[in-house]
Amino acid sequence: VTHASTVTMPYKGSVTGRVPVGIGMKRTRVVVTGGAGFVGSHLVDKLIKRGDDVIVIDNFFTGRKENVMHHFGNHRFELIRHDVVEPILLEVDQIYHLACPASPVHYKYNPILNCDYKTNVMGTLNMLGLAKRIGARFLLTSTSEVYGDPLEHPQKETYWGNVNPIGVRSCYDEGKRTAETLTMDYHRGAGVEVRIARIFNTYGPRMCLDDGRVVSNFVAQAIRKKPMTVYGDGKQTRSFQYVSDLVDGLMALMDGEHIGPFNLGNPGEFTMLELAEVVKEVIDPSATIEFRANTADDPHKRKPDISRAKELLNWEPKVPLRDGLPLMVNDFRNRILNEDEGKGN
Ligand code: NAD
Ligand code: UDP
Ligand code: UDP
Repeated sequence: VTHASTVTMPYKGSVTGRVPVGIGMKRTRVVVTGGAGFVGSHLVDKLIKRGDDVIVIDNFFTGRKENVMHHFGNHRFELIRHDVVEPILLEVDQIYHLACPASPVHYKYNPILNCDYKTNVMGTLNMLGLAKRIGARFLLTSTSEVYGDPLEHPQKETYWGNVNPIGVRSCYDEGKRTAETLTMDYHRGAGVEVRIARIFNTYGPRMCLDDGRVVSNFVAQAIRKKPMTVYGDGKQTRSFQYVSDLVDGLMALMDGEHIGPFNLGNPGEFTMLELAEVVKEVIDPSATIEFRANTADDPHKRKPDISRAKELLNWEPKVPLRDGLPLMVNDFRNRILNEDEGKGN
């Protein structure tokens, strides 16, 4: 069965108020929840470029209007301020579900107030309910965090993970694990067409400046001429993916025939000390580091096995860390400069 993702006839029933499509023309109507965030806004750019009609749903918890402002005035783009924890009625063909407070700083600070678990559960349930009602295809952006502190290395999609259910990270990890469960239950129980991506650490322009993730921290610290804060002994590893690679992977997954889950990440593995060295090379050779105590339950290592995505989605990342990092520096410099000007510095 082909999914209802293309409109081949003039479409009359839409509540989105979009311009009707001519007979024979194909245009996909897409919702991106969390589309004003870092990954979401890059995805929106590519969907719009392809010619899709895009509706962004965002409550601006960590997202910013600035990330999508360049589409204002485009009749194929619409921005709705809405919390996915509440139900919503729309008519679309595809739902990319990204909305989620994704940074450790935000979710650990106050997991209840910041509603991480609630967003993952209620938000995902609502988007699946929507997908079920309108026959849309649903894609969940899950995370490598479902593997917890992995006992298998690199991680394959068949690995079930090692997550502490009562730890400070669990609102995020278990929230996403529950979201995956809901997604598969709606697929098996209600016939919803679903896709699951397990995203590994991703970086690029428009990342939140101060959300505490390691790449944004090191890059911002180096630009501000402050020491880069290495947590623990800095020997823990992560694999860093440039955002355009992720967006390509998400779209290949959505438009492909396979449910997943699929690991989407760059297998290049770095210790935090090595990452600091690369940031130093790229931004400021005189940058220094400073050790800080590590946080609880920090995974010791992480690296995706991407053979499944390579084989079934014909996808693999193209941008190595040394090429990707320089691409975010200008954006960070400009925003840091604006911030400083705002403070009257
Ligand atoms: P982000 O914080 O930049 O984007 C998340 C967006 O969701 C923000 O715009 C935020 O305002 C919005 N949002 C949060 N709660 C919401 C709610 N209840 N209702 C509506 N909107 C809400 O983070 P990101 O890095 O772009 O992450 C996007 C998705 O990818 C998330 O689901 C995240 O878990 C997943 N992911 C990201 C990474 C990464 O390294 N960036 C890694 C693994 C998974
Ligand atoms: N939902 C939504 N938009 C829709 C359809 C459903 O937000 O167009 C929400 C609905 O409010 C519910 C959730 O999705 O909270 C799950 O919907 P479903 O129909 O699966 O469950 P039910 O409403 O029967 O409990
Ligand atoms: N980290 C660090 N310095 C920082 C922020 C994070 O050394 O300023 C470490 C952190 O302890 C972890 C790794 O970098 O081992 C990745 O952290 P991040 O929060 O970016 O992602 P996640 O832990 O979710 O993979």
